[in-house]
Amino acid sequence: MLNDPRSHGLWEATAPQAPIMAALDRQIAADVVVVGGGYTGMSCALHLAEAGRQVVLLEGREIGFGGAGRNVGLINAGLWLMPDDLTAKLGSIHGERLLRLLGEGPAMVMDLIDR
Ligand SMILES: Cc1cc2nc3c(=O)[nH]c(=O)nc-3n(C[C@H](O)[C@H](O)[C@H](O)COP(=O)(O)OP(=O)(O)OC[C@H]3O[C@@H](n4cnc5c(N)ncnc54)[C@H](O)[C@@H]3O)c2cc1C
Repeated sequence: MLNDPRSHGLWEATAPQAPIMAALDRQIAADVVVVGGGYTGMSCALHLAEAGRQVVLLEGREIGFGGAGRNVGLINAGLWLMPDDLTAKLGSIHGERLLRLLGEGPAMVMDLIDR
């Protein structure tokens, strides 16, 4: 990112150009200010905007500059624990619930990317 040799060169080389945004140089009003343009901040800003809030997202470097733009790219549906171990530890109600939420995670990530 930003031609920084410490960044993850593959994603930067293969992703579409990130939108070029100007530095914030004036006072603006918003319902919510979200700080950080990684997965967490962008998902938060998207959900708030979809709920009708006026949102400003402030990113100190560029979108995806942090872990979101440098990671391995695996969209995991589970934990390091095996599913049976999880239900044994948490009980069937909470274990099954967590397994279902984890299983739905990858589709949620892909849906977020589409939106
Ligand atoms: C090497 C590595 C490999 C990984 N591999 C995987 C993987 O394969 N699968 C997986 O699911 N997870 C993986 N992860 C974890 C995943 O990348 C992180 O959980 C995820 O990026 C966290 O997202 P985030 O939005 O919370 O933070 P980040 O993506 O780090 O975003 C934070 C953003 O906030 C900005 N920021 C920080 N401070 C300020 C400030 N004061 N003002 C304005 N902006 C600010 C930063 O510039 C950055 O853009 C990996 C992480 C690493 C480091």
